[in-house]
Amino acid sequence: MQAFICTTCGTQFPPAEKAPPNCPICDDERQYVPQSGQGWTTQQKLAVGHVNGWHQYEPSIIGVATQPRFAIGQRAVLMRTAHGNVLWDCISMLDDATVSLIKALGGLQAMAVSHPHFYTSMNDWAEAFDVDVHVHADDSQWIMRKGPRIKLWKGETLKLTPDATLIRGGGHFEGSSMLHWAGGAGGRGIVCCSDTAYVAADRQHLTFMRSYPNLVPLPAERVQAIADALAPFAFDKMFGNFFESVIETGAKQALNRSVERYLAAIR
Ligand SMILES: [Zn+2]
Ligand SMILES: [Zn+2]
Repeated sequence: MQAFICTTCGTQFPPAEKAPPNCPICDDERQYVPQSGQGWTTQQKLAVGHVNGWHQYEPSIIGVATQPRFAIGQRAVLMRTAHGNVLWDCISMLDDATVSLIKALGGLQAMAVSHPHFYTSMNDWAEAFDVDVHVHADDSQWIMRKGPRIKLWKGETLKLTPDATLIRGGGHFEGSSMLHWAGGAGGRGIVCCSDTAYVAADRQHLTFMRSYPNLVPLPAERVQAIADALAPFAFDKMFGNFFESVIETGAKQALNRSVERYLAAIR
């Protein structure tokens, strides 16, 4: 029995004798099946020819992503808060080096995953670090591999630690979430927005889509709801999904500017 991983989106499935017939995450209109057809791998196979690469944004914020790029190219963020380490989002590959390094930094206090495109192998990670992984209940139908470490949260916000808060923005998925950490960026505050708001290539703007690869926009009220969800929080820096997608400063103004621009464009 092996827990197969979809090579297009990185989602891990429950252990089985053979690979699943299809991947519901990729079959959904927000994703796609490549022209070459669906492919499958396992943790063991993935570790041959791949390593996890690290990028330190600041001493308390370290990104990790698999190299060469795997699946969507997901990047997780390790936040070293005064109340313990928090892992935001997840990546498929979990190798021994990653376990050793994160344990050497004090292990994890909590994990949270923004939406189904980052569920990847979250059960393996939660198990390895003996923590709960928080996922919004509105997206529970998209959890392909259930597990005792997955904690479904409901409503609009959830305090993970005294200064780290999960915020449901919705839009991309019903339960699409972001993470606010007041202690990040030297106390100026950070938001990890994942696909709920998406850091544009210019790193000065955000955009908001139901599907990024298939270019399906969100209606005005959904975009306004994301802006409203973030309004009570102070932050200056925003982290998107990839190593390079970061708005270094002025992120709050960038969000407001981007919402205005988006709404004007679809009016
Ligand atoms: Zn998939
Ligand atoms: Zn997504």
